[in-house]
Amino acid sequence: MNGEIIAVGSELLLGQIVNSNAKYLSEQLSYLGINIYYHSVVGDNDRRLSDVVKGSMDRSDIIILTGGLGPTKDDLTKESVANTIGKTLVYDRETELKIENYFKQREREMTENNRKQAVILKGATVFPNDHGLACGMAVKVDGTTIILLPGPPSEMKPMFENYVIPYLRMIQNEQEFIESRILRFFGIGESQLVDEIDDILDNQSNPTVAPLASDGEVTLRLTVKGNDEQENSRLLNSLQNVILDRVGDYFYGQGEESLIHKLVNELKMNHKKISTAESLTGGLFAAQLTDIRGASQIFPGGIVTYSNDVKQLGLEINHSFIKKEGAVSHACAKEMAVQIRKKMNSDYGISFTGVAGPDPLEGKRPGFVYIGISSNNKVESYELKLAGSRKNIRERTVKYGAYFLLQW
Ligand code: ATP
Ligand code: MG
Repeated sequence: MNGEIIAVGSELLLGQIVNSNAKYLSEQLSYLGINIYYHSVVGDNDRRLSDVVKGSMDRSDIIILTGGLGPTKDDLTKESVANTIGKTLVYDRETELKIENYFKQREREMTENNRKQAVILKGATVFPNDHGLACGMAVKVDGTTIILLPGPPSEMKPMFENYVIPYLRMIQNEQEFIESRILRFFGIGESQLVDEIDDILDNQSNPTVAPLASDGEVTLRLTVKGNDEQENSRLLNSLQNVILDRVGDYFYGQGEESLIHKLVNELKMNHKKISTAESLTGGLFAAQLTDIRGASQIFPGGIVTYSNDVKQLGLEINHSFIKKEGAVSHACAKEMAVQIRKKMNSDYGISFTGVAGPDPLEGKRPGFVYIGISSNNKVESYELKLAGSRKNIRERTVKYGAYFLLQW
């Protein structure tokens, strides 16, 4: 199936807001195996919206419109689509009751404009709005499914996840099953990975394999189509096995979970705590851990030990040790990891020391990094020789830290 997304709203054309709905929906639809060939943005204008919808009906199986379902005059998506496809508008009683209740509970006057949010295209499947008033809907016209969703992402996303995905799965199932699986790799570049599975990529038909690189991680999306679910799974499993036979060393997980996410989840699951001593990353690792909800369960804290003075002050690694071993060294990384674990009374200590650049340090060129990890009776350090900008080196270092910990 192929689809397209039409974002409605003059504020999008004026550059006042970013069309994040299109990004979100494209991503979601790709997981469902629905190919998106067009994104359009159109202002709150009946004629132009109608033109865009007409054009899209000729070429797409699924059209998703967002925006313009609200109560105000410029919200005209439903009216415009109704005129374009020759359908009448009726009230959806359930949504109407919900809106009435909303105003009753708040002892506020309900206007006819508000009632407008309960209007649907006749015969449409209604998607309830659990975070607002305007319901969403889907109608089928001449083999095309048109889906209308509210504009605010806080309403649109939960509606999509809870109601539209099951609806789309249902209409897909009427045709065939599509399943996709994401394999995540780290420590291997996209070109090297592609090289390793070159013949698979050249000869793919069903399942298909699509590589994607972003932020130093590489993913492979495997997608299978067919009307036998069990056979689909078998095909995916066997392709996954062939791929992992070749590049399994770099494989770290499946699905949407990033390295840091996976690390936080694993620590949580095992009731373990980690603390951080960061030099070249300046707290970036800690910041990424704490970006994730529930990080307090696994992260008591860390120290940014950027200068040698603070390495001594915060971690009791004295100047003579650093002078002898170097701050950018296996020995220093190990000591930092050991000391921070002790000080914070954690299960794991991790440390980062290195040269982010652009200038060399202690005779080492930018990109030289040592990561130390310590646990109960083990301490280890890893040397990296990274290339790239200062930002790049720091970000990749953080990912390597998570990667080594996951393998610990
Ligand atoms: P409302 O009931 O709030 O009026 P609506 O369904 O009528 O909702 P719009 O009026 O088109 O939607 O947009 C309301 C708000 O939703 C916009 O001001 C904007 O903040 C957000 N929004 C709309 N479309 C998009 C989009 N494509 N991407 C991101 N945000 C959007
Ligand atoms: Mg509106």
